[in-house]
Amino acid sequence: MLGMSTPPFFPTHIHGLRPHVPVQPLPALARELGLAPARIAQLHNNENPLGASPLALAALAQARIDPSRYPDTDCGLLSQALADHHGVPLDWIAVASGSETVIGYAVTAVLGGGGRRAAFSRYSFQSFAASMQRVGATPIAVPSPDFKVDFQGLREALAGEPHMVYIVNPGNPTGTCVDPEELHAFLRSVPAHVVVLLDEAYVEFLPGALRPDSIAWLREFPNLMITRTFSKAHGLAGLRVGYAIAQPALAEMLRRVRAPFSVSEAGQLAAVAALRDTDFVARTVAHNRSQREVLVAGLRELGISTLESHTNFVLAQVGSGASWAQRLQAHGLLVRPVDGYGLPEWLRIGIGTAEDNQRLLAAMSDEMAPAR
Ligand SMILES: *Cc1c(COP(=O)(O)O)cnc(C)c1O
Repeated sequence: MLGMSTPPFFPTHIHGLRPHVPVQPLPALARELGLAPARIAQLHNNENPLGASPLALAALAQARIDPSRYPDTDCGLLSQALADHHGVPLDWIAVASGSETVIGYAVTAVLGGGGRRAAFSRYSFQSFAASMQRVGATPIAVPSPDFKVDFQGLREALAGEPHMVYIVNPGNPTGTCVDPEELHAFLRSVPAHVVVLLDEAYVEFLPGALRPDSIAWLREFPNLMITRTFSKAHGLAGLRVGYAIAQPALAEMLRRVRAPFSVSEAGQLAAVAALRDTDFVARTVAHNRSQREVLVAGLRELGISTLESHTNFVLAQVGSGASWAQRLQAHGLLVRPVDGYGLPEWLRIGIGTAEDNQRLLAAMSDEMAPAR
């Protein structure tokens, strides 16, 4: 499947892996466009347009980190802070270098070894499918005709005897969310030996009425594992900190699978401070809500529809996502085509600063104007 003749080093499932496609390195792109790097609007990775949590930045500025020392392999202070924050015992927490890494560990632990299967809604975060591919597990993708999680479809997929079900709420790249009651009813219908991995990377962006009481559900479901991240609402994407919460049998296995010294001391310190920074998360969410409205309304005026988003990005139906991404890149605006998800007509656009969003709308309007 590689373009060249395939060397005999790897098993078949490894040959199908595709590289993660980053954008062109920023300095090179800035030079090419003749823009200052700061003028490039990065709306392609769902990062926080307000930057990092100020409390986290202050903690880093005061910290005396000795880079010659390995960090605390157990992430003790951070794990305790998370246990206190969520009101769960310490041994329910497993921290790692980003929740993508946690998801990879969960996949290794539950789906490794050959002949294992996992079910998920078709437009779920691709990193999960990539992790499955790394361990040779078999995907059971459930159709998602309205871009939402189809619980009836997932229930039917249980007949294929998956070992795990992966649910992202709210979703990436769709931005849609599930009904909390439906999710709870689904959890009850899953056999006790099937692990449910609930990825809540964007949960902070859900308004209260749509936010599932998921942490409380952990007591009811020993097979439930929730992942969260500091990369989005807390603005610490570059420090790579994420975690899982689950009853000890699952959490302990993640900690065993985890690479030693997984999270840097800087990451651990910053995350402890960011967790306390409720003001920053609130500002992030408020900014996101108001700018998302501006962006959605502006796109609608241009005749472009979007899915109802509960995240810090929107999925917009633009015609050709790949060609729009290229055209916008020429304006110094980075966005994410999603053809890899089987959504070639759509474009994932992060909610940026007010200025980013105005620039984006102006550039799209410009591109759509008849040639003069
Ligand atoms: C961004 C994202 C993550 C996580 O990221 P990390 O930076 O690895 O913590 C996890 N799941 C989804 C669906 C995401 O969009």
